[in-house]
Amino acid sequence: MIGATNNHMATREVMQSSIDDHSFHLVPQPDWSMPRDSEHVVQFYEADTFLLDMLSDYVGTGLAAGAGCLVVATKAHHVELDERLQAAGIDLLTARASGQYVALDAAETLATFMVAGSPDSRRFATVIGGIIAQVAHGRGAVRIFGEMVGLLWLEGQYDAAIQLEALWNVLHATQAFALFCAYPIHSFGGDALSQRLGDVCAAHARVIPAESYTALTDADERLRAIIQLQQKARSLEAEIAERQAAEASLRTVKDRLEVQVADLRHLHELSIRLTGTLDIETVLHEVLAAALTVHGSNMGLLSLCDPQRQGLKLHGSQGFDAPFLAQVASVPAGGGACGTCYERRRRVVVEDVEVDPIFAPYRQSARMAGFRAVHSTPLMARNGTIIGVLSVHFRQPHRPSERETRLIDLYAQMAADAIENAQLYQNAQDAIQVRDHFLSIAAHELKTPLTSLIGTAQLLQRRIERDGIVMGAGAKAMHVIVAQAKRLNKMILSLLDVSRIDTGRLTIERTPVDLSVLVRRVVEETQATLDKHTVECRLPSEPLLIEGDDVRLEQVVQNLISNAIKYSPNGGPIAVQAEQQGHQARLLVRDCGMGIPKNDQPHLFQRFYRATNADTQHMSGMGIGLYVVKEIVTLHGGTVAVESCEGAGSTFTVCLPLQPEAQAGIVAERSDMLGNPTHSLKAS
Ligand code: ADP
Repeated sequence: MIGATNNHMATREVMQSSIDDHSFHLVPQPDWSMPRDSEHVVQFYEADTFLLDMLSDYVGTGLAAGAGCLVVATKAHHVELDERLQAAGIDLLTARASGQYVALDAAETLATFMVAGSPDSRRFATVIGGIIAQVAHGRGAVRIFGEMVGLLWLEGQYDAAIQLEALWNVLHATQAFALFCAYPIHSFGGDALSQRLGDVCAAHARVIPAESYTALTDADERLRAIIQLQQKARSLEAEIAERQAAEASLRTVKDRLEVQVADLRHLHELSIRLTGTLDIETVLHEVLAAALTVHGSNMGLLSLCDPQRQGLKLHGSQGFDAPFLAQVASVPAGGGACGTCYERRRRVVVEDVEVDPIFAPYRQSARMAGFRAVHSTPLMARNGTIIGVLSVHFRQPHRPSERETRLIDLYAQMAADAIENAQLYQNAQDAIQVRDHFLSIAAHELKTPLTSLIGTAQLLQRRIERDGIVMGAGAKAMHVIVAQAKRLNKMILSLLDVSRIDTGRLTIERTPVDLSVLVRRVVEETQATLDKHTVECRLPSEPLLIEGDDVRLEQVVQNLISNAIKYSPNGGPIAVQAEQQGHQARLLVRDCGMGIPKNDQPHLFQRFYRATNADTQHMSGMGIGLYVVKEIVTLHGGTVAVESCEGAGSTFTVCLPLQPEAQAGIVAERSDMLGNPTHSLKAS
């Protein structure tokens, strides 16, 4: 391509030399020295300089020939044009003053006749027609340069630009003038504007290509340029076609990806729902609903293997009536799509029940139920055994797409896993129930002979002590037998308590209990058996009355104190304190023993839970005591909590509501309270 350098010179040379040359027709340059009266020309341009050179020729030759000139251009173009005209020796001041030369701003002029984004024909005729008449007055010819269309075009107002061109043509019918329009060629980029280019050309009597073509000086060069342009057009068309094809396939891929993303989202949602439940019925319902959604169907069955016999048992359905469900409640191996899927352990697709031999015996049922196709998928457990069949039914003959098949496999796998988990959970629950039942029975059975054993042993022990028949090691052995039997009895009672709690049979019998008295009694009894430990007891002198079960509350205090002793293996002080705090009685049992690791503390009151340091120190225990303590305290409407620092001891705090009367007394007590000294009992 030829550049735009010195285009002005080249254009003028062409204008001079081509009058008689037939190649002139390839470059339809306007001869500005001989304008036609009513001509509407469009010049496309690449560089502003080229446009301004053409324009200054157009206006310059016009003014020199005595024609009136109207230039409607941008401010920047006006400045440059004025410079060029003055450089060419034209007296612009005089031309302006006489009205021969009128320069208008394109944007401002546009604003005078644009209404709601379109040029208004009446306003245009009035404003522009009036100005033309003034410029034409007393002069032979009028030359106009209009850049308003170019402005509209650059703003993307293509329709408005074409409409404005048409209005200029309308004006031509009544007024004579030469009109020169200009459009920057770069504003026609893109395939979508090719039709618009045609519209612009159609609105003009003459069309002049941009300077890279018009500046060519010989006919051969111009023909070569045309060939190059044709080739470029072809390759651009080919490129556009390629791009459109690429866009189309991108769109397809995008659509497919969107479907996949939606599928994944559904899968994810289902997996969240499935992990949130271990209830088999809920799992089955969720899976069936999700599978039907994927297939856009509203009919489906979910059957699980029948452990009693070879076949399937219906566990979930959607879209079928009772008579049909009764028929498929139990499906034998090989029966229909589900039974065949179960028998073969693989997918069975019946595209049309009317023609598939698998369905021959069930056609009538299928017609009644209103389906024509079935898609059955096995639910396989992790160990490779089949646990059920998921079937989706269709009202019309149907072949599952690759997507449907892929998704149903995923759903089936998720369903199988979830069902297996739910079954394992159910089995575990059953096993726990069996265990608890066994513990309860065993504890009961052990308790009776043990009670009689302890009674007899104690009797024997007393006789031995009284009669002095057995001395020394024998008496000690008898003592050990009684102590161990009592220990065993305590463990059995604890196990029975656990069983009572689990079955909701642990109850309390409420009577008024003075917690101070109860605590003192337990401390004194315990103290008698200690050698390494001391128990310091701080109790209020006033009673701490609560409505409670004397025996069960004693069990609580005993348990906390015996734990404090057990888990302080090096001996040391144990503090037991009971006090009134607001409407509650508060009991604290504090030791300076081994303490409890932080991570274990939240679990201490769970059944069979033992702190990790108790295990490592090989201290015997079953992790039941605190579980029972918590239950008893809760039954009394109270709370129990622990504070501990590993290696530095623990404090267990029990809070129990005071008797209502005792609570009522609090106010009176407070009003005359000058302080009640707490009574300290040194139990050691
Ligand atoms: P057991 O003592 O028979 O194991 P408990 O239910 O009474 O059962 O206590 C549960 C666990 O709490 C104990 O195994 C022990 O790890 C921890 N524990 C309870 N009391 C104390 C204490 N005073 N100091 C340290 N650890 C304790």
